[in-house]
Amino acid sequence: MPSSRQSTAAATTARHPLQRLFDGCTDCDICRFLMDESCLLFPEMYRLYDEAVAQKRSPSLEVLKDLADRCTLCGLCPCPDVRSNVILAKAMRTQRQGLDPGARLLSDLQTFARLGQKVPRVANALSSVPAVRHLLEKIFQLHPQRQLPRLAKEDFFSWAVKEGLQRKGPPPQGGVRIAYFVGCTAAYLFPQVARAVVQVFRAAGAHMEVPPQQCCGMPTVVEGDMARSVERITANMNTLLHAVSEGYHVVCSCPTCGYFMRNLLKENACLATGCLETALEAGVAKRATAGVPSHEVTIPSGPPKRPSAQTYGPSALADDAFLNLSPSKRLQLSQHLWDVGEYLDRLRQQYGWRPRWHPSKGRWVYYAPCHQREQGFGTPYFDLLQEIPGLQLKRVGSSTDCCGMGGSLGYKKAFHEKSLQLGASLMEKITKEDPQAIVTDCLSCRLQFQYALGLPVYHPIEVMGQALVPAS
Ligand code: SF4
Ligand code: SF4
Repeated sequence: MPSSRQSTAAATTARHPLQRLFDGCTDCDICRFLMDESCLLFPEMYRLYDEAVAQKRSPSLEVLKDLADRCTLCGLCPCPDVRSNVILAKAMRTQRQGLDPGARLLSDLQTFARLGQKVPRVANALSSVPAVRHLLEKIFQLHPQRQLPRLAKEDFFSWAVKEGLQRKGPPPQGGVRIAYFVGCTAAYLFPQVARAVVQVFRAAGAHMEVPPQQCCGMPTVVEGDMARSVERITANMNTLLHAVSEGYHVVCSCPTCGYFMRNLLKENACLATGCLETALEAGVAKRATAGVPSHEVTIPSGPPKRPSAQTYGPSALADDAFLNLSPSKRLQLSQHLWDVGEYLDRLRQQYGWRPRWHPSKGRWVYYAPCHQREQGFGTPYFDLLQEIPGLQLKRVGSSTDCCGMGGSLGYKKAFHEKSLQLGASLMEKITKEDPQAIVTDCLSCRLQFQYALGLPVYHPIEVMGQALVPAS
């Protein structure tokens, strides 16, 4: 039967991650009711546990194997052990069985978008031909009612090149210099969101750049494709930390990329190291302060470093799922990455940015997505949007609500119903408000809301971009 949570590391690490997850959480039991509505894994795990108790035997690994597929890595459960064990279990399975075509397609927008981008009109037109759609559904095991989103005619990176957002030569000196991490969904499907980020930061007087970047790695981690994930995370960590060392402030508009780079990589690094913050102080932060003159606005010395959030020590119930990545670099990235909304609030509070807004109208709702809530920086977008005269904006959703999309898992035939089941409570709350539009920072939530509710959905930065009075 389940072992004690105080088991030794030596005894636990020999077991499969799903057994460790099962033993730890059924022994603890806190999430039996806590995660009832917002997670598919916990209710199934406790059902299996009750069955095992009734039958007086421990469940086999065969019985536990589907648990990992029930986790979307939403981040809502309290303990990092759970996510680490799920990631490890998914990775072990993918290493054994390889990726099926659907998982490959849905987890790698970057590759497919770059291919399709060469002929976006043909790719989009082909996917709307019924016979082609049917074939795609069959090959990739997509749900027939879900329409794959269309590729943008011009992706954000192509636009950024035209706008001169990719730096050539030495970095400019002084002022607020922003290195923008875009995320694949905004880059290839909703580039208007990323363009609005550039517009608003420029209006706030910041110098904007878009450094070379890869997919953050979250979608491939969700599918257990660790080799591809590690390659991309390594490339991003090197580029972004280099930007930090040059005095740039790194911002990100995608809550999932942000949650992945700030929380998930960090909590695993903490499982490995115990998160000794003092070990991080050397390096990036110190290099950043050298030779960066502060004029134009009051800039605190060096790139801003967020206050240290929750940390975790090594655990007997889980291992670091990203052993091939430097823990120190992960921790540094976590401390120097800012959400766009969070950073705009910082521009107001510390740098004196005073935006002016055109009046707007509408009865809208704002939903703070799971991956934004889990980063623990409040609701800066909601606060900023409240300033727009005439806009009626109400918050919806509790601290455990989730849209259920799980990145792109909702497109899968096997996950479609589960995805709607997960999001049902939130959809009901939104419907009750009878809004004219939904505002949310997460573009996966946007796709889910468009499918389930058929309402217009906007990223807060788009609303801000529309309402902002240009600086004279
Ligand atoms: S996630 Fe943490 S709090 Fe919840 S049941 Fe598992 S060990 Fe307990
Ligand atoms: S990360 Fe989310 S989906 Fe996964 S077990 Fe925790 S609450 Fe459930």
